[in-house]
Amino acid sequence: MNGVAMSTEACPALVLNADYRPLSYFPLSLWSWQDAIKAVFLGRVNILSEYDRMVHSPSFAMRLPSVVSLKTYVAPAKHPAFTRFNVFLRDHFHCQYCGSADDLTFDHVVPRSRGGRTTWQNVTTACSPCNLYKGGRLLSESGLHLRQRPVMPTVTMLQQNGRSFPPNYLHQSWNDFLYWDTELEA
Ligand SMILES: [Zn+2]
Repeated sequence: MNGVAMSTEACPALVLNADYRPLSYFPLSLWSWQDAIKAVFLGRVNILSEYDRMVHSPSFAMRLPSVVSLKTYVAPAKHPAFTRFNVFLRDHFHCQYCGSADDLTFDHVVPRSRGGRTTWQNVTTACSPCNLYKGGRLLSESGLHLRQRPVMPTVTMLQQNGRSFPPNYLHQSWNDFLYWDTELEA
């Protein structure tokens, strides 16, 4: 796309799977306008909505896509990756002992010193104060209670959780394809 002239303002495209659901909610699946246009020209996506803004080159002019959908359905992974981000997302970014959203860390429910392993089922989101308070103790010894038992989440579960974290920027044309919990309550 050499020679395309436009302002540098970002116009990301929301990327939907072939079933018109976002590839991911959190982080929201977005492509730069350059990637979106490339995919259009490669015939990989349909354009569902457009920005008013246009790109021009000597040979063509087109509106920037604001929503595209893949022509070929991409099956989501069966099991989400065991990452720090996904553990936080499973736990809604809240300490599972006191509910705080600040100063979050990870706690081994059964401490490593007691043979606890680093797995979905034994790692939970905890704020620093709770983590410090619990220390190397078992739940029964610390008197702390888990708000939810740590489990291996499904991809669907994480997507559901991600839907309650709308990104800072939402283009108007994306609303039809995003179902934030806040909107459902309105
Ligand atoms: Zn806490």
